[in-house]
Amino acid sequence: MPSNPLHVLRLNAREMLRQPGTRRQIRADLDAVDLHVVDARIAGSVGVELDAVSNVDGVVVAGTISTPWQVPCRRCLADVAGTARITVDELYQDHLSDEDAYQIEGDQIDMAPAIREYVLLELPEGPLCRDDCAGICPICGIDRNRATCDCDTEVRDDRWAALDALEFDDD
Ligand SMILES: [Zn+2]
Ligand SMILES: [Zn+2]
Repeated sequence: MPSNPLHVLRLNAREMLRQPGTRRQIRADLDAVDLHVVDARIAGSVGVELDAVSNVDGVVVAGTISTPWQVPCRRCLADVAGTARITVDELYQDHLSDEDAYQIEGDQIDMAPAIREYVLLELPEGPLCRDDCAGICPICGIDRNRATCDCDTEVRDDRWAALDALEFDDD
């Protein structure tokens, strides 16, 4: 029988709150599809390493989530890869007394929605393969990091410079 892979992300809050000091570990490697996170940037399974501890006020869930990603460089379109490591430190409460706390719904704490949100927030937008990436020649399309061409790009380069200046003013 197929079991729900997200079951591991649920904590029995009622039981933990009954006995302050109760500890639970969540260790999982989750498929993004199982997590219901659809994003082309995700390049592998989402690693979850969280520790939950109950106290008289609620349940503290802390640890890390890691997600490998692969995104095209915004200048040369070569694949850039990395791993997003996200630090988690959240409080779940029955009766909210801390303004940053999450409400415990029913008897369970389900970490899946929070993990989804963290992952999507931490994926990079338009990274560079390296700070001085030379990009692509606007005339012949050659990758200037790997080769040089004889295109006369001086005029265009001036225009790019003007555009860059405009963008800079916007900031
Ligand atoms: Zn690049
Ligand atoms: Zn060229």
